[in-house]
Amino acid sequence: MIFTVAIDGPAAAGKGTIGRAIAARFGFRHLDTGLLYRAVGAKGGDPASAARSLTPDDLARHDLRSMEAGQAASRVAALPEVRAALVDFQRRFARSEGGAVLDGRDIGTVICPEAEVKLYVTASAERRAHRRWLEVGGDAATVLSEVVERDRRDTERSAAPLKAAADAVMIDTSDLSADEAVARACALVLAALNR
Ligand code: C5P
Repeated sequence: MIFTVAIDGPAAAGKGTIGRAIAARFGFRHLDTGLLYRAVGAKGGDPASAARSLTPDDLARHDLRSMEAGQAASRVAALPEVRAALVDFQRRFARSEGGAVLDGRDIGTVICPEAEVKLYVTASAERRAHRRWLEVGGDAATVLSEVVERDRRDTERSAAPLKAAADAVMIDTSDLSADEAVARACALVLAALNR
C-alpha cells in the first residue's frame, strides 16, 4: 500500500509528536525532514555539497536539536541547490511501500502534493516558544525571538516557503493537549484509509 501523510507547519507546533504517533498507530515509517536540513547546516563547508553527500552518520549527530542547529538549518534550507539535493530521497521515502509520514515545511506543497492526508499543524508563537523553552531552557525571551526569526525566514524565502497546501487540514495546537492533537490527526488518517 502506498499512503503518505504530509505534515507541515512552523517550529515546535507539534508536528513531530503527531507524526511519531501516527506512525506508531498505523505502522507507517516516519521521516523528520527537519533533521536533513539540520545535518546539512551542522556539517559545515559548502551546503550544496554537504546535502549531496549526507550519510546516516550525519543524521545521527547528537548536536542537531540545539537552537543553533535550527538557525543554521533554516539558513541552508533557503538555498535552492540544497533543497534540490534532498528532494529525491524524501519523495522515495514518501511513496515507499507500507505507508509513510513525513513532517517538515514543504511536504504537502512540494515533496508530495499527492499525499493522501495533508495536515498543517500550527500554534501561536508564544505557545511554541514556551514548549521549545521547556526543552532547551535558557532565556525565554531569546527562545521566542529565535522562533519568530526562524518563522520569518521559513515563510519569506522564495524556495519552497512554509505554507499550508490548499487542501491541508489545519490543526491549531495552541489550546490542545498532545493527546487531543494526536487523536484529531489519527481520526483524519483513519477516515482517509477507509475512503
Ligand atoms: O523542523 P525543524 O525545526 O527541525 O527544521 C529545521 C529547519 O529546517 C526549519 O526551520 C526549516 O528552515 C528547515 N526545513 C525546511 N523544510 C523541511 C523541513 C525543515 O526548510 N521540509
